[in-house]
Amino acid sequence: MELVEETPYRFRIDRHDSMRVPGVVFASRPLLPDAGADKSLDQVANVATLPGIVTASYAMPDIHWGYGFPIGGVAATDVEADGVVSPGGVGFDISCGVRLLAAGLDRAELRPRLDALMDGLGASTPRGMGKGAVWHLSDRAELDAVMRGGSRYAVERGYGVERDLTRCEDYGAVADADPAQVSARALERGAAQVGSLGSGNHFLEVQAVEEVYDEAVASAFGLRAGQVAVMIHCGSRGLGHQIATDFIHTMEQVMPRYGIDVPDRQLACAPVSSPEGRDYLGAMAAAANYARANRQLLHHAAREVFQRITGSDLDLVYDISHNLAKIETHGVDGDQRRLCVHRKGATRALPPGHSDLPDDLRDVGQPVLIPGSMGTDSYVLVGVPGAPAFASTCHGAGRMQSRKQATKAARGHDPRRELEAQDIAVRGKSRRGLAEEMPIAYKDITAVIEATEGAGLCRRVARLVPIGVAKG
Ligand code: 5GP
Ligand code: MN
Ligand code: MN
Repeated sequence: MELVEETPYRFRIDRHDSMRVPGVVFASRPLLPDAGADKSLDQVANVATLPGIVTASYAMPDIHWGYGFPIGGVAATDVEADGVVSPGGVGFDISCGVRLLAAGLDRAELRPRLDALMDGLGASTPRGMGKGAVWHLSDRAELDAVMRGGSRYAVERGYGVERDLTRCEDYGAVADADPAQVSARALERGAAQVGSLGSGNHFLEVQAVEEVYDEAVASAFGLRAGQVAVMIHCGSRGLGHQIATDFIHTMEQVMPRYGIDVPDRQLACAPVSSPEGRDYLGAMAAAANYARANRQLLHHAAREVFQRITGSDLDLVYDISHNLAKIETHGVDGDQRRLCVHRKGATRALPPGHSDLPDDLRDVGQPVLIPGSMGTDSYVLVGVPGAPAFASTCHGAGRMQSRKQATKAARGHDPRRELEAQDIAVRGKSRRGLAEEMPIAYKDITAVIEATEGAGLCRRVARLVPIGVAKG
């Protein structure tokens, strides 16, 4: 794949074959995927062939190989011009995202109670492949309420406070969820998992604010140096996965009827305004709300443990989704257009002044939460004016090794011991789960953040370090 270096942090893939727009990759040279092992740059070019795509097929600095779309991919299609929606552009873990909570105490104050806190969090956070969740739903109607109401429903039921909603993307729930489009199999998979972390890359991590780059913005977010924080990363569990599977299949079947021809079957899609496109977006929104309720319940469970053991509350800094398609209005060639913005392993990053921000963040911009890996730094960033890529940015460090490669590389290592040697408490369910997620499996988070800032996608606000991690 030929890349044209436009700046040290921006590379272009010129249109070729059936590409409708160019590809644009935000990264530094060392971060570019290794073409031999990772086909994600080809995927950027493939995405550029989608009907209705506007401006460019974008990749963020944490780009790596995904299903159809790269992870770290952003693509917007024009709804009025037969633009398509593609489930592969959202991913299997619909509305997977990150929630950051700020505690009312400092790292030094926590130290004597850290072990008790980690035991409490380990016990209160259902996780791993097995069963167990914060909520046991009474019936299908209650699952519908979760899929329509998201975090809002959880808060109504007493699992959180009103402020948790103003600090959540979409105020806790995506509009237009359509539970009727969610298959029986998806409902069955999701019913027993409301309020559970899952496994692998998902985690609950106790962190400390190690460095603040912008005091004013950090303070508006509720963060200060030395403070303890909790980061929760999880998604829509089996429900979202099954919805993705169901609709990829549906779209594979109907594509010919809409005259759509894609270079990779994994890009299966349908026009946003077609019945299949609308049904997918309704089911996707249901999964997005499920994911937000999931994070709200895990937040609530952590809050209770925190209060009991430290006497401190856990205030929501923000809750972001990094696997979603959203109908948004953006300027394209001087016109305001309604677009279906796919962000897959990419985060929305609204600039200061945006009307979708809550009042207390309007002048500041949206908090962007970027986990690094178990054992390395994580970051809080903020949206900036005039950013390219439809107000989007990266979502993590990004994988460099597959789970299989990481497991192989971890042979002879004891992941738990190595983390504990770094003074990080571990509550992990399985050695294998930890081995797949060792920091070595991920790109260098510092380099990713540097490229993200260098490309003008976002600005640094604070750096967090891990103190303790609970994993599946
Ligand atoms: P994904 O949503 O693609 O599965 O993961 C998002 C990002 O989370 C990854 O790219 C990686 O940088 C980060 N990550 C994975 N595991 C951990 C962890 O245990 N702790 C932290 N802080 N970050 C993690
Ligand atoms: Mn995720
Ligand atoms: Mn996920």
